[in-house]
Amino acid sequence: MIINAMEKIMLDLLDEYKDKLQLTCTCNECMDDIIALTLNNVQPRYVTNKEKIMYIKASYVDKQEMTSLVVKLAECAKIVSDRPLCKTYQKRVDANEMSYL
Ligand SMILES: [Zn+2]
Repeated sequence: MIINAMEKIMLDLLDEYKDKLQLTCTCNECMDDIIALTLNNVQPRYVTNKEKIMYIKASYVDKQEMTSLVVKLAECAKIVSDRPLCKTYQKRVDANEMSYL
């Protein structure tokens, strides 16, 4: 079993910060878009079982890297919020604008 620990770490961060990120839309699709975009921009940290995610997460606590992860998340949240791709907003964007994912 191969898991990218960053996926769970980013989901937790998004959960923690979503009220502060001024998101245009908070539907599951937009949340997934934010996570996908963020994960494409951070170094993956693969582990072989779920328990090991906690070790990876612990290694980020109280470190500058954690702050930089939050900054990355905020940047990606802004990109998605500027142009949400979910059904609620889809009619307002054309295909070219979907290129960020
Ligand atoms: Zn949405």
